[in-house]
Amino acid sequence: MNKLVDDCFNQVGDLMSTAEALAILRQRIVTVTQDRLEQLPLAQAAGRILAADLVSTMDVPPHDNSAVDGYALRHEDLSDDDPVELTVQGRAAAGHPYTGALEPGGAVRIFTGGVMPDGADTVVMQEDVTAQDDRVTIPPGLKQGANRRHRGEDSRQGDIALRRGRRLRPQDLGLAASLGHGGVTVFRPLRVGVFSTGDELAEPGGELPPGAVYDANRYVLTALIAGLGAKVTDLGILPDRLDAVREGLDRASRGQDLLLTSGGVSVGDEDHVRGAVESLGHLNFWRLAIKPGRPLALGQVGDAAFVGLPGNPVAATVCFLRFARPLILGLAGATDLEPVLYRVTAGFDYEKKAGRREWLRARLERKPDGEPCALLFKPLGSGIINSLVQSHGLVELGEDVTRIKAGEAVDFLPYDEVAS
Ligand code: AMP
Ligand code: MG
Repeated sequence: MNKLVDDCFNQVGDLMSTAEALAILRQRIVTVTQDRLEQLPLAQAAGRILAADLVSTMDVPPHDNSAVDGYALRHEDLSDDDPVELTVQGRAAAGHPYTGALEPGGAVRIFTGGVMPDGADTVVMQEDVTAQDDRVTIPPGLKQGANRRHRGEDSRQGDIALRRGRRLRPQDLGLAASLGHGGVTVFRPLRVGVFSTGDELAEPGGELPPGAVYDANRYVLTALIAGLGAKVTDLGILPDRLDAVREGLDRASRGQDLLLTSGGVSVGDEDHVRGAVESLGHLNFWRLAIKPGRPLALGQVGDAAFVGLPGNPVAATVCFLRFARPLILGLAGATDLEPVLYRVTAGFDYEKKAGRREWLRARLERKPDGEPCALLFKPLGSGIINSLVQSHGLVELGEDVTRIKAGEAVDFLPYDEVAS
């Protein structure tokens, strides 16, 4: 059995940095989905993770062919200075090769994708010639090899086209199809169960009891997890009672590879997630030097890995995107775990404490000079769900940063980069 968490996970010292946390995750994550591989037709494989290298078994394109509609010819028949008249001796449309060989002084009418006839090395575009009956006049100045696509210029036989661990994007499926593969071998989907925790949480669509708020996190998290290609199960709301949390996690752990909770991981009297996980398996409680967020619980409940996110919706979402997402992708077998951050111009002034990483929700606007500029959503509180809705992504400020002035460059993580 692959255990995600062992004693090496234990945090020593004070607050843990984001880089340290991500490095530990990268080192420790093992693929848990290789116990059952699936052979899927290409049409069902989008978003799934390749379980074996896909090797090119052929050259693509399989033949030299024409990039334009025109006439295939022998470059040596042309003149550098004067037009030359050639005799059209045949036709090569896409899917209908010309079977003869091109004779000196001859040309073959050819269309885009048509196979280059034997003896032809160059194609002239039909717009550049004058044609009458079986005669075609070629202007001077055509380069040898013009408008000709070469066999194998896209894929070469024997190359690794797509590597194990790749999450299949639409264009990857196109590449596999071009190589003649009707299907691919992928890991089974990771099974992820999601709980919310808190006596104050009510189910949207139902009544709101006094003192309650509607559960928002489960809807954010289940949708994000589904976007990663995992099989997500909504496990509902756990109350703030140790026995109930323990029983809920214990039961759910049997059918899942990963359990994910939000809320209940602080050190308040009503925060029972830690205690429950500790009594069922391992728990490593990370105090991260981050804002929003801070407590992130990682552990093992039975055979399932466990992640406890903070309860505040913004903190839960940020911690999911930055920490739980790479964990989920890694457990599922993916090799590319972390998102690309983009440099944009800050359209705001901001001061922060040194020593922790901070994420601010921001909207991007194009400045008149074309540069993307990040504008902060206010208020900044980590409970403001609208800050996630009214923004395009997260400005990420490093540990060393203490102040940002408008016009400086900052890192930006678009939601689209991590929502799938
Ligand atoms: P906790 O981490 O359990 O102390 O929760 C911190 C804050 O987040 C509290 O205001 C909770 O009411 C709120 N919260 C926790 N879970 C959710 C949830 N699933 N949906 C919306 N708000 C939540
Ligand atoms: Mg709570």
